[in-house]
Amino acid sequence: MSGKRENVKKNDIFPLTIVDMGVDGEGIGKYEGMTFFVKDALIGDVILARAVKLKKNYGYARVEKITKASSSRVEPKCPLHRQCGGCQIQALEYSEQLRFKEKKVKNNLLRIGEFPEQELDAVMEPIVGMENPYRYRNKAQFPVGYDKNGEIVTGFYAARTHSIIPVEDCLLGVPENQEVLSAVKEWMKTYRIPAYDEKEGTGLVRHILIRYGFSTQEVMVCLIINGDSLPCQKELVEKLQAIEGMTSVCYNVNTERTNVILGQKTECIWGMPYITDSIYLRDTADFKRTETSVSYHISAQSFYQVNPVQTEKLYSTALEYAGLTGKESVWDLYCGIGTISLFLSQRAKQVYGVEIVPQAIEDAKNNAKLNGITNVQFFVGKAEEVLPKFYAGSGDSDEMCHPDVIVVDPPRKGCDEVCLSTMLAMRPKRIVYVSCDSATLARDLRILADGGYELKRVRAFDQFAHSGHVECVTLLQRKNT
Ligand code: SAH
Repeated sequence: MSGKRENVKKNDIFPLTIVDMGVDGEGIGKYEGMTFFVKDALIGDVILARAVKLKKNYGYARVEKITKASSSRVEPKCPLHRQCGGCQIQALEYSEQLRFKEKKVKNNLLRIGEFPEQELDAVMEPIVGMENPYRYRNKAQFPVGYDKNGEIVTGFYAARTHSIIPVEDCLLGVPENQEVLSAVKEWMKTYRIPAYDEKEGTGLVRHILIRYGFSTQEVMVCLIINGDSLPCQKELVEKLQAIEGMTSVCYNVNTERTNVILGQKTECIWGMPYITDSIYLRDTADFKRTETSVSYHISAQSFYQVNPVQTEKLYSTALEYAGLTGKESVWDLYCGIGTISLFLSQRAKQVYGVEIVPQAIEDAKNNAKLNGITNVQFFVGKAEEVLPKFYAGSGDSDEMCHPDVIVVDPPRKGCDEVCLSTMLAMRPKRIVYVSCDSATLARDLRILADGGYELKRVRAFDQFAHSGHVECVTLLQRKNT
């Protein structure tokens, strides 16, 4: 054990200057040779810190008092931002949030991807931020429970716990959420519908899921219940119908004692079992909407990007990077409900989508039909299994084995190595990598670069203002054509 380590003990209070910020927006400072990570502290803050957890060379601390606030510190709009786990960096001025995210991407590409700084400076384009970094989410999931006085509350789980902080309105969500929450709570009180008790596994209403179509103003409400049927449905529908835009009322059955919100079965009790929304192609020069759009049916259980305005910018950039002229064959790996595939199909000869969740592929096929799109084929399976299978299958067309472009949009853990090596073997002219985690992106880009591809363009997008997350679109081009 180092001598220095013994200087700081749990609950010690000491001065700390925050000189950097970690991947989740936590402040970083040094004291007595140890690095401290401090939640809610911003770069430039001088604070009194309280040590909460100590490791060998580093520790975690909390803000006891801000002695001198960072010049980038602003008054957060949400009074609950410290208790709620959702917005780690709301106290940071929005333009500084963007700089933080851009820097995070660059650092990962430098350190993990080992791309030279000069090369990165030449290919990195400015981060695309939001015009309005509030009320951008099209989906909200509020847990339902009781407060200390036995009153029904809806809200958010406090960070890393399961106690509900009552919230009437979240500033990231649409104002309609508030109306829905009031209506459901009133209905529960009037008809004595019990809220779910997580500890006992009793009670009925667990969560309220609300979806909002930004292009169509359609609203869906889905109650997640701990039971097979919903009582007083007519009365619930009557209340919800009064809310403008209401098009779908559903319930979803989840009787498991789990943290997973949705169960397998959803029943529609009024309106359609989905909402419809459209994603418009934007001109990447100014990100103004064009006339071209693709429509999607989104059911309670579908995965759908939560920030539709930024998604249009993201997809439009991915499409531009793909460099399509109408003659190309394209693979879209990790395609979800086919959002990117259907976008690509408008400019490609043929698109092949791969996704692991069968229900998402069902949605993708239906969405293709909804738009009259016929040049897309969808496959259920793991990208790292489906792709090698087609590559090995001698009977398959050359277009499938040697596509012009491969687009990938994997979850945070990035692409599987087999997937990457098959992509390299297929030798597409271009690879467009869409990523929600720049650390795994950097790791995978290094493999692709070593496999004969040149990093041509990188652009970060802010899909989740006030959180530490950042999305990226990158373009790789094959060196030997
Ligand atoms: N491109 C879509 C979805 C991106 S999210 C969109 O923009 O909406 C990543 C998707 O990858 C999820 O739908 C997830 O179910 C899927 N996925 C996860 N692991 C996978 C794997 N090994 N192979 C194929 N798809 C996978």
